[in-house]
Amino acid sequence: MTKHIFMTGGVVSSIGKGLTSASIGMLLEARGLKVRMQKLDPYINVDPGTMSPYQHGEVYVLDDGSETDLDLGHYERFTHSPLTRDCNYTTGQIYLSVIEKERKGLFLGKTVQVIPHITDEIKSVIKKVGEQDVDVVITEIGGTVGDIESLPFLEAIRQYPLIAGKENCLFIHLTLVPYLKAAGELKTKPTQHSVGQLRQIGIQPDILICRSEKPISRDEREKIALFCNLAPQAVIEERDKDFSIYEVPLSLVSNGLDEIIVKRLGLTTQSPNLEPINEVLHRLRNPKHEISIAVVGKYAEHKDAYKSIYESLDHAGIHHHAQIRIGRIQSADIENEGPECLLSGYDGILVPGGFGERGVEGKVQAIRYARERGVPFFGICLGMQCAVIEFGRNVIGLQRAHSSEFDKNTTDPVICLLDEQRKVTQVGGTMRLGSQQASLHPDSRSILAYGTSEIAERHRHRYEFNNQYRPRFEAHGMRIAGSSPDGKLVEIVELPDHPWFVAVQFHPEFKSKPTKAHPLFAGFIEAAIERHLRLVSKSTDPSAEPANY
Ligand code: GLN
Repeated sequence: MTKHIFMTGGVVSSIGKGLTSASIGMLLEARGLKVRMQKLDPYINVDPGTMSPYQHGEVYVLDDGSETDLDLGHYERFTHSPLTRDCNYTTGQIYLSVIEKERKGLFLGKTVQVIPHITDEIKSVIKKVGEQDVDVVITEIGGTVGDIESLPFLEAIRQYPLIAGKENCLFIHLTLVPYLKAAGELKTKPTQHSVGQLRQIGIQPDILICRSEKPISRDEREKIALFCNLAPQAVIEERDKDFSIYEVPLSLVSNGLDEIIVKRLGLTTQSPNLEPINEVLHRLRNPKHEISIAVVGKYAEHKDAYKSIYESLDHAGIHHHAQIRIGRIQSADIENEGPECLLSGYDGILVPGGFGERGVEGKVQAIRYARERGVPFFGICLGMQCAVIEFGRNVIGLQRAHSSEFDKNTTDPVICLLDEQRKVTQVGGTMRLGSQQASLHPDSRSILAYGTSEIAERHRHRYEFNNQYRPRFEAHGMRIAGSSPDGKLVEIVELPDHPWFVAVQFHPEFKSKPTKAHPLFAGFIEAAIERHLRLVSKSTDPSAEPANY
């Protein structure tokens, strides 16, 4: 019988439910259990892919091409749970499905209502994930208890034990226990209110996880337990972790969370194997190198807009025992202040994906700087397209080289709309999405990094390298290092004469893990470390070879 864990959050948003859910997934896997992760988002949008990164951070893309909430990135990085379209639903998608059924006449003319029709639909999407070969499904409910929008989801999970059996369901509630400086103490009242609201709906949490910046004393835990109708050992402290998110699962273990979960669900398991996550932390705490990478993007000020990129850089750092200092550079600032001023001192430059014209010229300038100075460069999706534009303009001499996304009338559309996109009229879920195969050039940095000639990577784009320009780019020294198996779509470009210049049409950042860095990120960071060491030896030994190639 599949077990279900439902994770809700209270008091404030952004409390770390995604990370905590992912950590629980990791801990259960460490005990040898098969876990599936799922997130239900209360917002109405049907296509999370069209949401602004300012509001929701990055859009996370799965192998099957679904565009999902960034918490699914935590799930993939922390667990081995296979993720598909069924692992992320929004209120809008649930309603759309119910409305489509109603229009097909499946409700036989009955009045369609939130209870039972919407709640039944929600229960069916939870059930579907639990039907596969799995021991535990962890379903995270987005939003905060008390929001009007999340009520149908909460009602559905309240009903869930009625179909799955009470003994197979566990409710975990994550709250904040704030520290009031003026009073010099932790405050438990918001947690009491939040649990009170849950109990009004009919959900009694089995476990309470309390986020807090200070240690929660035994007395405070007992007080929370009493008010919230729980045993004191079911009140688990989750202290803020400043050093690394990978500390979270270990701190939950030391507070007994995994122990109480398996006990309450009646699961017999091995004791947790925490070796891999301990090794990750060991490497993070004992770096042999320290390097800095500039990420030049449109949304640099927003820490979640390039979440998976930042994580993947850290993973590559873990792989090479290097601490990575990330400089988040606003590409529009480069247009005003110049690349020299903002980029000198970095050991590598990365230009991530993106949409819209703002800051594109700054990205092009950053890439020129990296190309001319021999600074390791990694371009991703729009970053690759900008690398092609830059090379077209400054190496081949096509002054108006551009993407037709930004200049419809350019005489040199070196980046143009994909053929399959020409008839597309709707914006939601219509890009070239998900896992696609690519074949690598036998003489390329990419094949060296991957160690294989056939790869599959996740995509999310409408524009592509314009094949009409291919001969000219190749004649001027740009290598097409990867293309779709039919040879029609350019997937990777490289500059063989540069220390490390690789730009890809896909999104490698969605396939990197702390325990298994993505090969291209690992290659990029290796090149950045080499440059760093060369610069250090040059500054201490004047006879050393020049830093720039
Ligand atoms: N805007 C570009 C395109 O649609 C790049 C997309 C991206 O970077 N994800 O092709």
